[in-house]
Amino acid sequence: MMSKKFLRLTPPRGISEMDDVRWGRTLAHELGHYVFWLGDEYMDWRGNSYYWDYITCDDFACYPERDVYYAAPDSVMKNDWVWSELSTPKDYEEFHKYLNNTYGDWKPYTTDQWGNTTRTNENSDEVDPGIWHSSAWETVYKILTGDNLKIKACIPQKDFNVKGSIPCSMKTLVLENKIYLDFTPTSEFTPKTGPYTGVSYFMEVIWG
Ligand SMILES: [Zn+2]
Repeated sequence: MMSKKFLRLTPPRGISEMDDVRWGRTLAHELGHYVFWLGDEYMDWRGNSYYWDYITCDDFACYPERDVYYAAPDSVMKNDWVWSELSTPKDYEEFHKYLNNTYGDWKPYTTDQWGNTTRTNENSDEVDPGIWHSSAWETVYKILTGDNLKIKACIPQKDFNVKGSIPCSMKTLVLENKIYLDFTPTSEFTPKTGPYTGVSYFMEVIWG
């Protein structure tokens, strides 16, 4: 459960409460995790935050290198207080171009959400190719229409009734939904509004 009012300590800092658009976007972000198994997009697949961990120093000052944070796809999974949409394949084309130019290779620096670098477990740098290769939007599409879709998901280790944040561990899940969609989005498709993106929508989730 998300509390009615909470204090955010990372930038943009502040208080959010029910009826506030930021509260709604935070709910959309959390639903992204718990309904669609989307990853956070403000950190790389090794768990380094783009905002805090990519640091460079020069002779005069040591300061956070924030460019990689700003280059990452602008999506609700990156910063729920700023964006409401999901990342698309086009976003990742641009992000990986940026990472190639800056670091020579995108793979070590891409998000946990996309690429052939998904962790085999949360404490390991070992990679598990072949699983979950997609932007957030593609992942939602695959999950909705999935037939034997194998994904890595962070499963909570404790009862949801416990207050505060709950640790999770990476497990393999096989999803089989086979929901029929009456259109086929291509890589050119940019979702603007719809039942699975944005806020101000209500969604009923039935488990099992
Ligand atoms: Zn998150």
